Amino acid sequence: MTTAADRLASVQADIRDAEAENGRETGSVTLIAVSKTFEAEEIRPVLEAGQLVFGENRVQEAMHKWPGLREDFAGIELHLIGPLQSNKAKEAVATFDVIHTVDRPKIAKALKAEMDKQDRQLPCFIQVNTGEEPQKAGIPPKEVDAFVAYCREEVGLPIIGLMCIPPVEEAPGEHFALLEKIARRNGLEQLSMGMSADYAVAVGFGATHVRVGSAIFGSRDYA
Ligand SMILES: *Cc1c(COP(=O)(O)O)cnc(C)c1O
Repeated sequence: MTTAADRLASVQADIRDAEAENGRETGSVTLIAVSKTFEAEEIRPVLEAGQLVFGENRVQEAMHKWPGLREDFAGIELHLIGPLQSNKAKEAVATFDVIHTVDRPKIAKALKAEMDKQDRQLPCFIQVNTGEEPQKAGIPPKEVDAFVAYCREEVGLPIIGLMCIPPVEEAPGEHFALLEKIARRNGLEQLSMGMSADYAVAVGFGATHVRVGSAIFGSRDYA
């Protein structure tokens, strides 16, 4: 039987291989272990194996799970990878270290106000809806340049990169390439892209952060 720690090791090895194959520097890709829906007790062995960077998609879930784990493990870095409501900005800024899902002016302003209030400036990614899917969050590709400028110049949010979730039924490569192109022309260096099914592909397209859940923790039970 493989454990989460075994699967973590194999994902880490895949990432190192993909870095080497694509001429990327070893360690240039950060693995975010996505622990949403898993209990603290299931996360603990992955922390014990040395993984310190994690992603959660719900503020409420994370604020209950992570304070206890932070007491037991130093150096945890927690990334918010799910949609954010402005009335949860306070909890999000208090709970997370990096935000991947800035996708509208209201959220940008709410986050900045909370960061100032809590004196905690969190690095942020802007989520881009590369597939222009109506049901999906994110800024449409054509509007990203203006939104990046707005976040930087009018709001003063520390924007470090772009994030995308490609449409499930499409080959992800063209979406990763589009995200990279938009980031480059805006002078943004960080790219949050690639999940369990396609993280090695994403590394080839320049991902700096891959968000991997089920390949480490196993399949999720949403019941
Ligand atoms: C759940 C989730 C992931 C991880 O998905 P897996 O396919 O389990 O690796 C990555 N990114 C986001 C935004 C997610 O919500």
